[in-house]
Amino acid sequence: MAEFAETIAGPTQIDLPDPQTREFVEQWRNASYNCFSSGHKFCREVCPVMQVSRNESWTPTAFHANVVAMEKGELEVADIASDYVNCTQCGACELRCPNTLFTGDFYRFRTRTVDVVKAVRALAVDKGIHQPRWQTWNARTNDKTHEPVLGEEDISQDNVRNWAEGLDIPIGGETILFVDCEAAFYRTSVPRAVAQILQSVGYEFGLMGEQWCCGGPAAEMGYEEQARRFARHNLDNWRSTGTKRVLVLDPHDYISFTEDYPKYFGAEYDIEVVLVVELLAEMIRDGRLTPTVPIERTITYHDPCRLNKRKGIWQEPREILRAIPGLTFNDVDRVTQWSYCSGAGGGLAIEKPELTAAISRNRLDKAAELQVDTLVSACPWSERPLSAAGQDTDIDVVDIHELLAESLGITVGGSRGAS
Ligand code: SF4
Ligand code: SF4
Repeated sequence: MAEFAETIAGPTQIDLPDPQTREFVEQWRNASYNCFSSGHKFCREVCPVMQVSRNESWTPTAFHANVVAMEKGELEVADIASDYVNCTQCGACELRCPNTLFTGDFYRFRTRTVDVVKAVRALAVDKGIHQPRWQTWNARTNDKTHEPVLGEEDISQDNVRNWAEGLDIPIGGETILFVDCEAAFYRTSVPRAVAQILQSVGYEFGLMGEQWCCGGPAAEMGYEEQARRFARHNLDNWRSTGTKRVLVLDPHDYISFTEDYPKYFGAEYDIEVVLVVELLAEMIRDGRLTPTVPIERTITYHDPCRLNKRKGIWQEPREILRAIPGLTFNDVDRVTQWSYCSGAGGGLAIEKPELTAAISRNRLDKAAELQVDTLVSACPWSERPLSAAGQDTDIDVVDIHELLAESLGITVGGSRGAS
């Protein structure tokens, strides 16, 4: 469909005085007309923000329709920039959109709401339109080279490897473990679990020489120049320590390294990116890891949006959970989970923490319907708001890597955060 723009969206002569807006509209008009002209609105009910807000201006439909209005000169980015805060970039709407579902297979087309949202945010920042908390967050990230996550640990370059204290992990080498800011400074039990599981099978890896934030959150909030600068630093640092393979435990980093970095660096980017959950599932399949310590919990699994909906990774976490003895696993269909989100992604938790909290409460309510005592996640960023919501429903929120480590008899150590 995108290739038949003249038929669907009419002539492409765009007559807007502002060059940045014109360039933006030229890039996104076809995607937006595809939505605007079909207007199915199937996407709205799976949108986690719509579910808690019922605000028509904060829907995938509106996010596309605004671009059509911008092309007609009826709106400017300043009029609508603050609406685009209200998206976790979960990808649910893209999957549910009939343009993806019914014609996508044939035309290899997918609705790209996440990219539209990112592009509007980037245009806003380019034009000097800032959301106050995002501006502060990104300025602090720029200063500290890490996200200013709240916790007891001081955010600094000196402390980014503190989580690994006592684990005797070398610096650099062919394979390194990249630990996202939330896990490195707040939920340190997650990287400790991963590192010790890998050490238990003799898997060789190091830590990054000078790790900066992956840059993904800046890219998600529209601070693209900063995101590219951070990515450049990380790629150069990997090169300086002979690194060819990066292990990733956080789904947001996985998106950055597999989608943003290839876009920034093109053919220069020759780094193999390995998602830890996939690696551990493979090790269980091959018999290299055998969890034996029974864990008596009744669980369900929270599919992180960036794994299930954005990357189609839903089987491997379930393989891991089914290998752990003692667990009662009350799963729901992964397609049903398209509509679930923690609310933590896309910068929403920074600018609109009350919306994130409401979305997390929704997620815990869904878990409670399954009569579970534990919600397992594979995303450190989801675990803080989910844990806070879990306190109200008496459901414990546990990280999948930690659960596996426990069943392997490993005492993880570190902090599970304050909540
Ligand atoms: S994104 Fe898809 S489902 Fe949603 S309104 Fe647009 S065309 Fe319809
Ligand atoms: S990506 Fe997620 S949060 Fe954003 S509009 Fe789509 S469904 Fe809503």
